[in-house]
Amino acid sequence: MDDSDDDYVEFSPGGGDDDDLDFNDNDGISKRTRNRDPSGSTNKKGSPRKGKAVADSKLKGTSGGYAWEDEYHRSWDVVQEDEGGSLAGAVAGLVEESKKKRIVRDTKPLQRGIIRNLILILDFSSAMLEKDLRPNRYKLMINYAIEFVGEFFDQNPISQLGIVAMKDGLAMLVSELDGNPTEHIHKLELCRKQEPTGVPSLQNALEMARGLLYHVPAHCTKEVLLIFGALLSSDPGDIHKTITSLVDDKIRAKVIGLAAQVAVCKELSTRTNYGHSENNYGVVLNEPHFKDLLMETTTPLAVSKMGASVRANMLVEMGFPSRISESEPTLCACHSMLTQGGYLCPRCKSKICSLPTICPCCSLTLILSTHLARSYHHLFPLQSFIEVDATKRAIASHCFSCQLELPHITSLTSPTHRFACVKCNNQFCIDCDVFCHETLHNCPGCESMAHKPKQRPVPLLPRPVQKLKLNFNSASSSASSTPAPEDGISV
Ligand SMILES: [Zn+2]
Ligand SMILES: [Zn+2]
Ligand SMILES: [Zn+2]
Ligand SMILES: [Zn+2]
Repeated sequence: MDDSDDDYVEFSPGGGDDDDLDFNDNDGISKRTRNRDPSGSTNKKGSPRKGKAVADSKLKGTSGGYAWEDEYHRSWDVVQEDEGGSLAGAVAGLVEESKKKRIVRDTKPLQRGIIRNLILILDFSSAMLEKDLRPNRYKLMINYAIEFVGEFFDQNPISQLGIVAMKDGLAMLVSELDGNPTEHIHKLELCRKQEPTGVPSLQNALEMARGLLYHVPAHCTKEVLLIFGALLSSDPGDIHKTITSLVDDKIRAKVIGLAAQVAVCKELSTRTNYGHSENNYGVVLNEPHFKDLLMETTTPLAVSKMGASVRANMLVEMGFPSRISESEPTLCACHSMLTQGGYLCPRCKSKICSLPTICPCCSLTLILSTHLARSYHHLFPLQSFIEVDATKRAIASHCFSCQLELPHITSLTSPTHRFACVKCNNQFCIDCDVFCHETLHNCPGCESMAHKPKQRPVPLLPRPVQKLKLNFNSASSSASSTPAPEDGISV
């Protein structure tokens, strides 16, 4: 295993040379203590004592303590009581902040591979018993993996997923490459009872993933998502050759590290993504960050120019089977079990239990039209809504989507809690904004306009005309220099 320290060198002004430390760079935060000489006596530029004093003063953080203490955000510092001594306002603000973070997404329309084949490689080695993530790394990973499988098939209904585990230096197949989330979740539930043991073998797991993705046709994407808790890999051969063969097979890998950055994982994510490791290798900071990194993977990868040339203008055969209802149970082609009802393959007329799937008899991809529509939204993502600026435009009293009353605002400079679609200009509450972007993938305002003649005025729904009284207190009187509407803000 190569050393994994290439990121800590970036923080060290002296390039890791302890004798040449220069503390003049006092941005200070998260200086690694291991870069400092323990005695503080090796500063060439001054006497040892003076050097230490200078170093100490430069290391002072903004809060008066040491700079490295600044990186800890204590929850009791962030949450401040309001005038009434209540925390409700502060907590609501934090919740809204987290929602805003979720809806700021890259909405650039890109060519993406929407028929995905992803192998999820999980670390079942003894390093997963660490309790730095609660309750421990292993249990948290299984919980998140179950959530991930549900979300993955919700966002990518015509895709397939397989699960591989690394344990005792071997790769174990947890779940075959398949399009049925229930089976994957069932297999993951069974893994809860297992105890993580031994060391992981990255090479064995990657070779197994390569084998599982071998038969995947060229119009589908081949992806590997590795969750790696250990800092080592015990491999039977040369892992660099395995990475080269992954590159040759056009398999793209994303890595989520649970402990620290590992050089071989960085190499894996960089080389398999045409030299880009950004967004393809992340080390988790805490539990929510782990979940964020995992859920990012539910968005299909953009097709790179190099990969696109291969699959240009390719027609894909797909079957849209019809549902049947039977009075007597019959054998299904997928599990060879007696089941009542199901779907008939339009080409070979064999019965299958659930969609989407690949026909076990004629290998035709079988989906429903709704699956195709749901996958399609990744190609034309809904543009982010922008927060309404009360100084520039009138604000709505009710959310266009849920019709609930929006919070009153007291000054023009305070946040308006209203988010407007850039196309139809309708205003929404933050919950509807999140719902539109994460679940619906459409704007209710634009959709309702699409079926009406264009000359009809916007908004279409009759809404009560309401005047908001604006109280400008002395603190915000400076804001009154901006041109305010004469009679308050009306809708
Ligand atoms: Zn079946
Ligand atoms: Zn068939
Ligand atoms: Zn709403
Ligand atoms: Zn709209």
